[in-house]
Amino acid sequence: MDTIRRDIPVRFSLPRRLSRLGSLAYNLWWVWNPDAQRLFSLIDKTLWDQVNHNPVAFLTRVERALLNALTNDPAYLELYDRTMAAFDVYMKGGSTWFKQNYAALAGKENQIAYFSFEFGLHESLPVYAGGLGILAGDHLKEASDMGIPLVGVGFIYRQGYFVQHITEDGWQETRNYYLNFDEMPVVPILDAAGKPLMISVELPGRSVFARLWEVRVGRVTLLLMDSNVEQNSEYDRQLTERLYSNDLEVRISQEVLLGMGGVRALRLLGIEPTVWHMNEGHSAFLALERLLEYVRKGLTLDESIERVRKTSVFTTHTPVPAGNDQFPLWLVDKYLVNIWPELGLTRDAFVDLGRQATPWGDNFVMPVLAIKLSEGCNAVSELHGQVSRRMWNFLWPERRADDVPITHITNGVHVGSLMARRMRMLFDQYFGPGWLERVDDPELWAQIERIPDVDLWMVRRHLKRKLIVFANERSRSLWSSGMITPAQVVASGVMLEPYSLTIGFARRFATYKRGYLILKDFDRLMRIINDPRRPVQIVFAGKAHPADEPGKLIIQQVYRAVKDPRSAGRLTFLEDYDMNMARFLVQGVDVWMNTPRRPNEASGTSGMKAAINGVLNFSVLDGWWREGYNGRNGWAIGEDSDIADPNQQDALDAESLYDTLENEIVPLYYEHRTADNMPVEWLARVKESIRTLAPQFSTRRMVGEYMHTLYEPALMAGRSLEGKK
Ligand SMILES: *Cc1c(COP(=O)(O)O)cnc(C)c1O
Repeated sequence: MDTIRRDIPVRFSLPRRLSRLGSLAYNLWWVWNPDAQRLFSLIDKTLWDQVNHNPVAFLTRVERALLNALTNDPAYLELYDRTMAAFDVYMKGGSTWFKQNYAALAGKENQIAYFSFEFGLHESLPVYAGGLGILAGDHLKEASDMGIPLVGVGFIYRQGYFVQHITEDGWQETRNYYLNFDEMPVVPILDAAGKPLMISVELPGRSVFARLWEVRVGRVTLLLMDSNVEQNSEYDRQLTERLYSNDLEVRISQEVLLGMGGVRALRLLGIEPTVWHMNEGHSAFLALERLLEYVRKGLTLDESIERVRKTSVFTTHTPVPAGNDQFPLWLVDKYLVNIWPELGLTRDAFVDLGRQATPWGDNFVMPVLAIKLSEGCNAVSELHGQVSRRMWNFLWPERRADDVPITHITNGVHVGSLMARRMRMLFDQYFGPGWLERVDDPELWAQIERIPDVDLWMVRRHLKRKLIVFANERSRSLWSSGMITPAQVVASGVMLEPYSLTIGFARRFATYKRGYLILKDFDRLMRIINDPRRPVQIVFAGKAHPADEPGKLIIQQVYRAVKDPRSAGRLTFLEDYDMNMARFLVQGVDVWMNTPRRPNEASGTSGMKAAINGVLNFSVLDGWWREGYNGRNGWAIGEDSDIADPNQQDALDAESLYDTLENEIVPLYYEHRTADNMPVEWLARVKESIRTLAPQFSTRRMVGEYMHTLYEPALMAGRSLEGKK
């Protein structure tokens, strides 16, 4: 172990007085601490934006003269000292939630391993595609805040998730690019000789190697594997090239590397987790590696299965059977052929661990494997729990769906990362210090009534202006680079203005999210948005998976509507949605709209981000919103019931959407204004929304539930099994 080096690279030339900016750059703690962010942005805001808020790239390039000047700036130095002191206190982790609530379990690091195909921690680490990754990133941040001994395992992809450009006719083009890990907040893990430390897994006819990188997320470590090493063939070097390959052989190879390689990576570093959490099925092969470990130690297969099951946790996110990760059996034969003899299983008995009959034959389904080898299984919202218990009922044919042992833990968002700084300052002012440690406490949020409307309204107006400036600047730079036509300049938001009711719709353009729904009756929409006394603006954003042709067609349909002169610049599409743009949107609009085809939105989290920033939700009663909506804290689209016929569902939901927009949302925003033009009824609803949703949909509540319902029993079981060893 002492031969492993995990030091921060020495890369920057910093004045001694400011030398600790270097270690701050390599710990993502700064992402959710606005003062720490300002330590970077205050040096050179333009460069800070240019490097996409990547502190390592920033410190590599910033002019030394600017840094030197700050060593004589008392205000900067005061902020620096205060922030570094706060960082030290945090990293020491004196009295954490975990120590307070689980004193008996405290004292050991890395007890829970959390595996995920993607982690969305920050825009400067673009190894995420969407909601699943951002949830995983938020899980790590919150585990760090709560002092939970958790370690993450995933991949660092050489190509970041693609850059999106929209052509004049609305077609999504993708630009791929290579990340430069040397300029990212990732620490190489090296051996004593300074060479990359390496793990390997067996794939047909060869070993495949991967090196390891470490991301520091506050007190939590995230290990990322990277197969781009010279020991590998060109083909194998590309296994961690990009997210979500459609090539099934690449996919199964990646998953062997993630699951089996991930276990080996932890072992190599001397990390011995008790509990193993699979975030989605992609990492389920980790359970096979653990079975092999026990069998090699001499346990019987049944004993091994019992140990693995008792200490594994699985979270499903996919309510559609075909959406689940799965492989045809010939691929299992090809890739896992060495595993079943070692486990003492026949090929058929092995395949049964993941077998599911599908209309196109039997498949090996990763969530089936994960469910069979995990005692703790959960879905990510109440409705998704019901859907999942029905979907996996065939694994327990003797039970009724209600008795299928899959519980639900509704998703949440990491408030520190996603709440606007100005909003946070407002709560600092009225709630006092330390309120972020209690964000899941309804009594804290009951105090929202103490915040004067005028203060809240000022922050809301500020955040909307920031969004508009952001959109305008994006348009300006696209225009000046010659990439877009004048019509596209209008489409990209230059006509947005700060006084109109503004609706946001931004997410992956998967078909079930129905980005087209609000366009169903274009004439009616035009009448609504172009009312000169009560204008409405809509900001769209989002990427489609590059292979998702129907998704790209929806983007095109939206874009054509946006470019239509009848929409008068009030419909806009911001290209290249990412975590940075998401923050501007969920903080800056007035209404956050979501129109999934129920019940396909397992949870959704962007609406929660909107809610904590004082934005009102207007959504189908699916996923989290079905639990969050109380009739007074936003608006529903459609009914709390499923409609089988998709066309009928679209028609009914569109009708409901227009009715509510016309009769409730627009009037509430524009009527009941005070003498100084403040919408009091609107603000009352905003307060109701924050009061009811903020405590319920934070990762504080969510990770607490994971700890309580899934991790604690698994930790206890694991400890008693370890005792028996
Ligand atoms: C929060 C977020 C998502 C998830 O959004 P939902 O549509 O609510 O699942 C996707 N992408 C980005 C960039 C986000 O910030």
